Amino acid sequence: MTKYLIATNNPGKVKEFARILSPLGIEAVTAKEAGVSLDDVEETGETFAENAYIKARAAFERTGLPSIADDSGLSVDALNGEPGVYSARYAGQGADDAKRIEKLLHNLEGVEKDKRTAHFTCSICCVVDNDTVITAEGKCYGVIAEKPMGDGGFGYDPVFLTEDGRTFGQLSAEEKDKVSHRGKALREFSGKMS
Ligand code: IMP
Repeated sequence: MTKYLIATNNPGKVKEFARILSPLGIEAVTAKEAGVSLDDVEETGETFAENAYIKARAAFERTGLPSIADDSGLSVDALNGEPGVYSARYAGQGADDAKRIEKLLHNLEGVEKDKRTAHFTCSICCVVDNDTVITAEGKCYGVIAEKPMGDGGFGYDPVFLTEDGRTFGQLSAEEKDKVSHRGKALREFSGKMS
């Protein structure tokens, strides 16, 4: 098995990558397991793809291991693409998902349903070596609901209405994977790696 570093502190993401990479003969290791910290790497990019590259490149430089990172977020058309790359930080440091959702719904007050369009993006970047970078990206389009529905998933899931009229928060994990930005990006990525 070849070792690949997964540049994230999110155990859920490490698991998803490990599941996809293991049939390809790749062992997923965390930064901690590789003996480095990536906590100080700042996401200064203006796009999801730039931030994924920044994280993967920093991990590669610190460990010498091929390194994979991803970056994701929600872009709302009526808010000129906000919260975008600031999705995780939308309501300030220390705020939780409920606070971020509250701020989003507040900023969309009075905006009619047909103008509440939005999409999620997930960008994946793998710095294999100094000359090789592999990227993949997935998007999922929907509408921001008037109020949260469902308690599945995480983040903005309860207010992201999909085509079938349910929010991501009302879908099972498998249903979400089939249509989500992350599911699409991971499938494209896995195809490029095999
Ligand atoms: P990051 O990719 O870890 O930087 O986090 C991006 C942020 O975007 C998350 O903290 C969530 O707020 C939001 N986000 C990304 N993907 C999803 C998703 O699938 N559902 C709900 N929120 C998401």
